[in-house]
This record gives sequence, structure tokens and C-alpha cells, in this order.
Amino acid sequence: MKINAERLAGHFEAMSLIGKIGETGTCRPTMTTLEKQAFELASGWMQDAGMTTHIDHFGNLVGRLKGTDPSLPVLMMGSHLDSQPYGGRFDGVAGVLSAIEVMQTMKEQGIRPRRSIDVVSFADEEGWRFNKGLFGSRGILGKLEEGELQRMDKDGITREQALIDFGCDPHKFLESEYKPGSIHCFLELHIEQGPVLDLANKPIGVVSGISGPLWLTVTLRGMAGHAGSVPMPIRQDALLGASEIVVALNRIATQVPGAPTVGTVGTMQVFPASRNIIPEEVRFTVDLRDIDLDRRNRYEKQLRDEIAAIAAKHRLSVSISEDTNSEPRYCAQWIKDIIHQQCRELRLDAPELMSGPFHDAMALSYACDYGMIFVRCKDGISHNPLEFASYEDLALGTEVLYGTVLEILKK
Ligand SMILES: [Zn+2]
Repeated sequence: MKINAERLAGHFEAMSLIGKIGETGTCRPTMTTLEKQAFELASGWMQDAGMTTHIDHFGNLVGRLKGTDPSLPVLMMGSHLDSQPYGGRFDGVAGVLSAIEVMQTMKEQGIRPRRSIDVVSFADEEGWRFNKGLFGSRGILGKLEEGELQRMDKDGITREQALIDFGCDPHKFLESEYKPGSIHCFLELHIEQGPVLDLANKPIGVVSGISGPLWLTVTLRGMAGHAGSVPMPIRQDALLGASEIVVALNRIATQVPGAPTVGTVGTMQVFPASRNIIPEEVRFTVDLRDIDLDRRNRYEKQLRDEIAAIAAKHRLSVSISEDTNSEPRYCAQWIKDIIHQQCRELRLDAPELMSGPFHDAMALSYACDYGMIFVRCKDGISHNPLEFASYEDLALGTEVLYGTVLEILKK
């Protein structure tokens, strides 16, 4: 291996101490002194690797290695150093530390690229503090939405104030934006956050794309009545209807064995929620994801038909609202080809898999071609202090990333 696995492991160990909770957990909220400490640690490593560093006005940490021809669009890599409030040591961190290791290795190998390389730790990927994520990665592309700076955290601090406290100037956002065409491509290494690689006993996966979720809220309304007296045949039980829909969604999402489609009802509110009243109204959420948008659209149609049929059967009224409808974002074939080639050279049998969760790469996909490398994580556990990826696997992924960067620089 060209990269230094021991150094990489040391960086993970050092980073895990900042915002450490319990034995193996991390709480490192965005735009806090903890994230600032993480940035200081990471920027020291970036500088060792020959990069200049700064924190931009969105709160992103940006390290740059200037190429011999700085007029060329940059190669960008990175992820995030903020964590969930009850998170692990690898989510996001893996993408930043692997990128830094790639840069350090390039320096040691005496490689001076023609195009500049930016390594970024994006601000607020996780999104829980202000209830909206991918802040830094959308910010640099001029994709922030109306009112975002006025979003408040649980202590009443606005995003705007948090940025100012972090040393950023929201009036200077334009200075930190990347102009269209200025990014050649984006690479992100990330732990899988799912069990596919672990179950297949494969350390590394090549991401095919990030599936966008369809989020619906379904409300069923029937008729309340005494649970002891209303005969079964004449009931209008909203919870019975909702239960059949949950089962129907599961059937729809699993009709093609082995397909990556996932469908989930994650919340349900029952009214009036009394043990001896037939449920009158039930409201629940649907999360449907697939990398194949045509199939997801077909399944959505099937689900809506099922909901209508089940509602009719139980004489329930139904309303459905659409909360989010994002499209899948596919990785560039030419980058996937390079990643596959690098895996073959390391004798890794790397399957292709989609990403259910969002990543900063999703935001970047609207500005440039992108590729992602997944590293196996134990039992697929993430957003949990139990999240675990081995240093061996992370080193392998970083070696794949290194080879991928070198190939891209040849183009
Ligand atoms: Zn992440």
C-alpha cells in the first residue's frame, strides 16, 4: 500500500477525542467550539500535507493544494466532521481523514498535480441542529434557500448567529461560492451506514448513486365508536386501514428480490388513542427510496392504488401530502470505472451498491461528476456510538481513493 495505514489510524484516534461521549461515541455539533477544535486538528494535518487552509463563510474547512495550472477546474474531495448528537467516530470523519491521507501520500511520492485539489470538511452535513442539512455543500454552490439563516436551534440561536460566532460573515457568502464549471469532479469516501457490505463480507463497495427519498404523509379518517359495542362488520377503523397499508408498502417494496428498494412507515399517530375507542383518525409517514426512479414511480402508483382500495374497503376518507420528492443522483460512469479498476488492482471484489442516506456528494452532484467509495461498517450500524469500521478496511478504502485520484489527475 502507498498510503500509511498507521498514520491514518492515529488520525482517527486523535479526532475521536474531540466531542467524545462514552467509550466510542461522538457528539460534535456543527458551528461549535468542538467543531472548531476538529477543524484546527484537521487543518494542521492538511498543512503538513502541503495545503493552505481556511474556514470559508459557510463554516466549511477548506484545504487547497495549488496545482501547476490553477486555471483548471479543481478536483474536490471531502465529507464532514460534524456528528449526530449521539453519533459514532466514522460517519463523515472517514471522508475527511482519507482525503488528507491521500494528500500526504501524494506529497511523499513527490506528485505535484496540474489541477488544484481541494479537501473540504463541509459545514452541517447532519442537519439536526437547525433541522436542515448539507448546509456547507449547498452553500458553496449558491443553493441555500430562503429563510435558512433564520432557522433556530433548540436554544434559540439562529443559523446566522451561529455562523457569526464561528467567525463567518454571511454577507460575504459570494466570496466562498464556487463558480459553475470550477469543480472538475467530487470524490467522497464514506462508511456504508448499512449492512450490505458486511453481510457480503466485502470491505469496499463502489457507490452507484444516492437514492432520493419520496416522503408522504397519509391521513386516514374513519368513525370513532365504543370498542365494546360496535359490531365488526360496520366499523370504520382507521388504524386497521393504516395497518393494511403498512403491510402493502412492505409487499410493494420487496416484490423484486434483491432490489435496493426500501419502504418504511416510521411514525404513526392514532386519534383519539384510547384502548376502548375505535381509532377515528390515523396519520403516518411513508419513506420510499430506490435508485431506479422509474421503478420508484411505479411503486408509488401501486401504493396510492392500494391506499385507495384499502380506504374504500373500510369506508375511510384519505388524504396524502407529499413532503419531499428528490430524485436519485447517479455517480459518473467514468469515475465508477476508475474506482472499480483500483479495486481490481488491490484484488478487491467490490460490489456496486446504492446509498440510501444523503451525503454531501448529493449536493455536489448538481455541479459536477461525482464518485463515492463505501467502506464496510459493522452490522450496518450508524448514527450510534456503536458505529464501527475497522482501520484495515478504512486503509483499503483510502488506498482505493488514492489510486482513483491519481488516475483522475492523468486525465
Ligand atoms: Zn455522513
